Amino acid sequence: MTTAATDAPQVEEAIASDDTPPFSLELSQDQKDIRDWVHGFAENVVRPAAHEWDEREETPWPVIQEAAKIGLYGFEGMAQFFADPSGLTLPIVNEELFWGDAGIGLSIQGTGLAVAAIFGQGTPEQMGEWVPQCYGTVEEPKVAAFCASEPDAGSDVSALRTTAKYDDAKDEWVLNGQKAWATNGGIADVHVVIASVDRDLGSRGHAAFVIPPGTPGCEQGAKVLKHGLRASHTADVHLDDCRVPGSCLLGGKEKLDERLARVREGKQSKSQAAMQTFEATRPIVGAQAIGIARGAYEYSLGYAKERVQFGRPIIENQAIAFTLANMKMEIDAARLLVWRASWMGKTGQTFENAEGSMSKLKSGEVAVWVTERAMQILGGNGYTREFPVERMHRDAKIYDIFEGTAEIQRLVISRAISGVKIQ
Ligand SMILES: Cc1cc2nc3c(=O)[nH]c(=O)nc-3n(C[C@H](O)[C@H](O)[C@H](O)COP(=O)(O)OP(=O)(O)OC[C@H]3O[C@@H](n4cnc5c(N)ncnc54)[C@H](O)[C@@H]3O)c2cc1C
Repeated sequence: MTTAATDAPQVEEAIASDDTPPFSLELSQDQKDIRDWVHGFAENVVRPAAHEWDEREETPWPVIQEAAKIGLYGFEGMAQFFADPSGLTLPIVNEELFWGDAGIGLSIQGTGLAVAAIFGQGTPEQMGEWVPQCYGTVEEPKVAAFCASEPDAGSDVSALRTTAKYDDAKDEWVLNGQKAWATNGGIADVHVVIASVDRDLGSRGHAAFVIPPGTPGCEQGAKVLKHGLRASHTADVHLDDCRVPGSCLLGGKEKLDERLARVREGKQSKSQAAMQTFEATRPIVGAQAIGIARGAYEYSLGYAKERVQFGRPIIENQAIAFTLANMKMEIDAARLLVWRASWMGKTGQTFENAEGSMSKLKSGEVAVWVTERAMQILGGNGYTREFPVERMHRDAKIYDIFEGTAEIQRLVISRAISGVKIQ
């Protein structure tokens, strides 16, 4: 029998030889610095502008420009956040920014969806060519759009009707169809469009295409008027005989042909264009929802300490204090799921139990619940547009819907845990 004392050197040796660092939730100094820097921008620039741009229901270009000036919006900033080997910097940046305001936050982060598609599916040359163009320059920032959804294909991506046909003679792809609810649709310089190259193959016949700036045949349709996130532009995009060079197919034609051949032979397809993009971005979307929830929680906590009824601050009532305790606990629980999924994604862990979907589902539901409770704590003021929690509640609701509705996330999770094709 060995004693604890004789085991100790062996344990130390094992730890020293193991590449895995000891478990820690302590953020690095770099992460803390970035968090504080983004928070400063959210507090001093974003939050004060939030009400105005929500009312105007327009893209806040001056705020995007300010973000570009300090390096928060742009290719270099994104590359720096993405490079963090723990995967936590990107959710931290999103949480802080959306703490400031979600509509403005999405105007700044919406480009990230198109960028994620180019990163996920493009060749190194395509990344080098298109990602910087998605952001434009500090002097003239641009935005990008990712267009998967269609009027008849939301949750059911396999139903999309937009087609891409290859014109061999000209080495061009010709796209036709209508995209719906595209964030930055029509005002973007670069659009990334998911289209079907073989409708018989459902989602396995999809591919992603870059539509370069100013391409004829790619036009904005109706602008969508929304319940929340009103500073973020959402619109239909029409593709009418929209011709793009062969090089705009993300990943290249050879890779696509190989993949389609595998699918036609009945083999497993390695990638499903739209689903890959969603998988990579779900924890980040969850972090945005947490930012909204935290903003509402902090505002209502401060209010509850100030507001006096029956001769005492309302927080002295357990009904209010316990609600705030639950709000804080739910936000922290959701953040841990987001950090786990982000870390898993960055370090190449397999999502055995749909942990990415779990993080987005939990965060969206927490944001809706917390912002609703925040309105309750503010009473009549909570229901007015004079106080920010009303806007935060409107903004939060979309997190139950886009990037996969709550029902679709539950479908993904239940299939992953059971191995059964739940309907
Ligand atoms: C503000 C905003 C921004 C957006 N940005 C983008 C963007 O940038 N790019 C993009 O491509 N799309 C975008 N979308 C579209 C968004 O992703 C879709 O709205 C979403 O995927 C849901 O699709 P749907 O609206 O067609 O709902 P449906 O698919 O019609 O769903 C309706 C209801 O039925 C439920 N349901 C559907 N199928 C099932 C099932 N099998 N089991 C149980 N319940 C089911 C859903 O959960 C939902 O409750 C955006 C939408 C909005 C509102």
